[in-house]
Amino acid sequence: MKKIAVIGAGLTGATAAANLVQQGYQVTVFDKGRSAGGRMSSKRTEQGYLDMGAQYFTARTDVFKQQVQLWLDAGQADVWPCTTALLCNEDGVVSLKSSKDEQRRFVGVPSMHSPINALLLGIPLITGCRISKLDYRQQSWILWGDNGISYAGFDAVLLTLPPAQAQQLMTQSSLPEVFDTAANLLEPCWAVAMQAEASPAGDAIFCQHPKLRFISHQQYKSGRNSCFVLHFNAAFSAEHLQQPADFWFAEATAVLRDELNIKQTIEPLVAHRWLYASQNDQTAVPGCIELPDHQLWLGGDWSYGGRVENAYLAGFALAQAVIRNYKLQQENA
Ligand code: FAD
Ligand code: NAD
Repeated sequence: MKKIAVIGAGLTGATAAANLVQQGYQVTVFDKGRSAGGRMSSKRTEQGYLDMGAQYFTARTDVFKQQVQLWLDAGQADVWPCTTALLCNEDGVVSLKSSKDEQRRFVGVPSMHSPINALLLGIPLITGCRISKLDYRQQSWILWGDNGISYAGFDAVLLTLPPAQAQQLMTQSSLPEVFDTAANLLEPCWAVAMQAEASPAGDAIFCQHPKLRFISHQQYKSGRNSCFVLHFNAAFSAEHLQQPADFWFAEATAVLRDELNIKQTIEPLVAHRWLYASQNDQTAVPGCIELPDHQLWLGGDWSYGGRVENAYLAGFALAQAVIRNYKLQQENA
């Protein structure tokens, strides 16, 4: 039985792992975080789960629609019955208006990462372990964790990290350079959660704004509480990347008071910096990267355009590529 190491327990890694296990492969998943989820992680707090990364997902392809239906049936996801609005701020002139649409939007239940946990159920998962070096010797991989432990005996490795982190690991392991623009492929995002009553305008507020990208109120997401999550846009997040949480709480409070007209109490909850959050619209999407000579495959949301659905499609494609590779090896043996 082939042994596969999947590095990264976001949706890409979890999807690849689940599909490979289904086909009889022996898979171990590694993540540097305390639990699975990656950019779909929700933070557990006294206020319930806070979705600091992805706020919702949409499903446009048949393959992802089928998966979402399975999550819905199992109670691991739900429809987010949000009302949508648009916040504009052009040269200081603020307008907040309804922007209704018919799009079905989904959330994980009770947290955004619940669907990932469901995919990983029963699959060995080693968390709190940043893989810092890979070594391919005699057709077998050894993975070195920064916990001082090495993991040996893998036939293939799947890297499902953001490009900058994947390239760093490749370079540390004397493996080929695969991303020309690694440092630029994903841009940062500061995410700030604030306790406050919802705005009457809506709970999914798209922003055309010098500082903000999206504002979400969590009241109609199962398992969550009455709070906002504000996502600052890539330019503003990058410009103030090193600012402490208090800077972001002050910015968020000002927006909620002055632009959303929230009059009740506003309390800061959590500020989180995502260094590698999202793709720039102008970035070309490379697809998954196959290095069969090294028995190494790379993919992630960035392969197809940086959304939850694209992470799922990348995980699916990675698993198919590995399966195809071994079928070919068997045919040629
Ligand atoms: P990730 O989730 O980033 O998974 C990679 C994993 O690798 C991480 O868990 C990380 O801890 C781990 N890792 C990294 N380096 C190492 C290492 N050396 N060793 C071990 N583990 C390592 N998409 C939507 O569709 N809708 C949204 O509303 C939405 N909003 C978003 C808001 C924010 C603030 C952010 C940041 C993203 C948002 N996205 C949204 C994008 C969506 O979250 C991602 O497309 C998707 O979650 C990416 O999944 P992934 O598995 O490809 O990558
Ligand atoms: P979607 O179809 O709801 O939204 C896609 C885009 O269309 C939005 O970003 C917005 O610009 C626009 N839009 C959609 N409905 C709108 C409405 N009613 N009024 C005004 N504009 C509207 O969802 P999707 O295509 O699945 O995209 C996923 C979401 O993830 C997007 O909102 C994207 O911005 C967000 N995202 C955020 C980050 C981050 O770092 N903050 C990273 C990746 C993705």
